[in-house]
Amino acid sequence: PGTRKNETFVGAIDQGTTSTRFLIFNKDGEPVATHQIEFKQIYPNSGWHEHDPNELVSSVTQCIEEAVKDFERHGHSRSSIKAVGITNQRETTVVWDTETGEPLYNAIVWTDVRSQNIVKELKARDGADKLQALCGLPISTYPSCSKLLWMMENVPRVKEAYDNGRLSFGTVDAWLVYRLNGGPEKNVFVSDPTNASRSMFMNLETLDYDQTLLDFFRLDRNKIHLPKIVRSSDPKAYGSLTSGALRGVPITGCLGDQSAALVGQKGFTPGMAKNTYGTGCFLLYNVGEKPVISTHGLLATVAFHFEGKPVYALEGSIAVAGSAIKWIINNLGLVDNSAKINDLAATVQDNGGCVFVTGFSGLFAPYWIDECRGTILGITQYTQKGHIARATLEATCYQTKAILDAMEKDSGSPLAELAVDGGMSNSDLCMQTQSDLISIPVNRPAMRETTALGAAIAAGLAVGVWSGIDEVREVNKVGSTRFEPIKSKEEAGEMFGRWSKAVQTCTGFV
Ligand code: ADP
Repeated sequence: PGTRKNETFVGAIDQGTTSTRFLIFNKDGEPVATHQIEFKQIYPNSGWHEHDPNELVSSVTQCIEEAVKDFERHGHSRSSIKAVGITNQRETTVVWDTETGEPLYNAIVWTDVRSQNIVKELKARDGADKLQALCGLPISTYPSCSKLLWMMENVPRVKEAYDNGRLSFGTVDAWLVYRLNGGPEKNVFVSDPTNASRSMFMNLETLDYDQTLLDFFRLDRNKIHLPKIVRSSDPKAYGSLTSGALRGVPITGCLGDQSAALVGQKGFTPGMAKNTYGTGCFLLYNVGEKPVISTHGLLATVAFHFEGKPVYALEGSIAVAGSAIKWIINNLGLVDNSAKINDLAATVQDNGGCVFVTGFSGLFAPYWIDECRGTILGITQYTQKGHIARATLEATCYQTKAILDAMEKDSGSPLAELAVDGGMSNSDLCMQTQSDLISIPVNRPAMRETTALGAAIAAGLAVGVWSGIDEVREVNKVGSTRFEPIKSKEEAGEMFGRWSKAVQTCTGFV
């Protein structure tokens, strides 16, 4: 241990849905120090999900302090950390007072569906069908816009701030950058296109706010402050940390979590795809320098914008993945930790005819069904806990299969291999099932903190830690595990057929 002469490191803030992490990476993409904090999940009503914006910031600063201590315990010096990157939960909506920098409400989390009535009203407005071609997203409770509109309609302080021209809106990246730079004094108020594109206010081609979109949502830009959209990797735009162990270190990279995972998996070439199995599950497929607007239920989004032209992705989002495992643990008590669901699933040979449609708050891609709730079908006298465990793991694999089918239709070419990461990808059983269902190999890297690595790459590229994309391709290469399909395509097709039938059955249940 100890820093070698001229050795450089990059820090990565990973502000996720359930926890915050800070990791310090070396040039080989190895995390040499890390700290993680779980923070409070606030569920005030059914379908509501909030975070305390101040707690998000304090969890970040605490993680930095602890990880730097860990780093120094390993004999390194903090002065060898050249830059910090940020990656974050996307769509989660934060509003604050422009003058004081104080939050005006809790952050409304991406999973929150309280804006359902607003969404119905928006869908009925003139021009609703024109939005997706501009911003890549369909109108739903998922993007930030309907969450912001809900606050403006229902929280008097927010409405008042808007009327007085003091309302600042940001996704979590913008909020963190603003606060880590000290807040209103320096007023560093920026966002990168991978985050900004999730608001529904950004035009995918111009990478700037679009008047048609803002008019549609009836937002007056004189009354609301939106972050300036800058490149995902930039030596100056994001300012620097103003306090703590890394005071003065520049923030030079910023990517929404799913884009960061694509970068961390080094999905730089068109045709490459990654799937991240976390709280939700998100598949991103690199489509190159032109956005592809899906006609099969996928989203168009920005993959990253480094030097040169932006790179776009097709995205398949699954709302519930690991959170279904958490539900099995916390609400049913079938097992007491996530890893044990695999042991339970392994007590049986197959799902025993059970299909679990984990549409707790509707289904996302490629279905986009709001009127569906979680449903377990096919239960008989024979059904054991193990079958339910298996069906829970399989649910995400089926939705991934549906997304890949849609992607093949949109892009015209089938995927050759799927790169995976995220907490649930630790399950060998789940990854084998995934490979079986999509009939292509699934590749899991040994170091699975790819989201944080992506943020570190974005930050490191801006300050020359890596000379360019070619050098980055060599990062985190060793020790991956490959899952090859074992089941026949017929068998996989039969299983998927039962899933599709189950989805039809629970549609319109609400
Ligand atoms: P996020 O970044 O969205 O908070 P993570 O990538 O940390 O999520 O993944 C957390 C999810 O992964 C949890 O829902 C957890 O249940 C699941 N998970 C963690 N370990 C395992 C495991 N060994 N097998 C299956 N699921 C797991």
